[in-house]
Amino acid sequence: MKTYTETLYDAYGQEFSVDKVYFENKTEHQHLIIFENAMFGRVMALDGIIQTTEADEFIYHEMLTHVPLLAHGNVKDVLIIGGGDGGMLREVCKHQSVEHIVQVEIDDQVVEMCKEYLPQHSAGAYDDPRVEVVIDDGANFVRTTERRFDVIISDSTDPIGPGDVLFTSDFYADCKKCLKLGGVLVTQNGVAYMQLDEVVTTGKRLAPYFRDSYFYSAAVPTYIGGIMTFAWATDDESLRQLSTEVIAERFNKAAITTRYYNPAIHSASFALPQYILDAIKD
Ligand code: SAM
Repeated sequence: MKTYTETLYDAYGQEFSVDKVYFENKTEHQHLIIFENAMFGRVMALDGIIQTTEADEFIYHEMLTHVPLLAHGNVKDVLIIGGGDGGMLREVCKHQSVEHIVQVEIDDQVVEMCKEYLPQHSAGAYDDPRVEVVIDDGANFVRTTERRFDVIISDSTDPIGPGDVLFTSDFYADCKKCLKLGGVLVTQNGVAYMQLDEVVTTGKRLAPYFRDSYFYSAAVPTYIGGIMTFAWATDDESLRQLSTEVIAERFNKAAITTRYYNPAIHSASFALPQYILDAIKD
């Protein structure tokens, strides 16, 4: 039986049985494979690292979308950096109050291949008239654009290869520049138990630019090793303190369907284990 082994860590990993390979190629930026696995459905990996699976993608995309958008409460303009599989776009499009969504993805082959082989991720979101897809390095986009956003979602690969620039101080400073007053930046920031150094580094790099920089989390099965942390950064310190009741009012008004996110999970996701609090306290 053919198998696929993730190579994110030298001393530990996960292996998938491969029932069928839909696509495998070296794009201009990275090695891309999409394959069928009996447990997780269609799986996409970039440069040996699992990016998303049909079975558990809803957890990650719902949490990186609905937590910032419902905490903000009046989002009109959203910027997604990365997100080539289209799952984040699908979740943002559920918010009818959002007027414009810009997605900046460096690799157009990821977009095209995921449209073809992971159609349930974008589920037609790329055809939403509010959506504009820009093929560019996200770091270059935020450095040069004059546009401003209420929420920026950095849905990037790990800080390896093309994704590395999306974890730098310059990138965070440029994101701050691109946020409207009261805006929120959230980012994919790795599995805390396995990549705690990345959490600490991000915390240190965000702090100079945002009055409130913190983390929230969710456990996504195929991001192995425990809870995945999401970085949270905004100048509006009240947003992270909103009551579950206020979030519930907004969630009900938005009338969106979810499979993982709910107002109680929203509030609870900001509760962090002591080892993370100890690591980021300075
Ligand atoms: N959920 C995944 C995770 O947590 O690792 C991320 C999924 S998504 C597929 C990651 C996307 O980031 C990929 O489509 C990749 O091409 C894109 N990407 C990597 N570096 C980028 C950059 N500098 N600018 C824009 N997109 C980038």
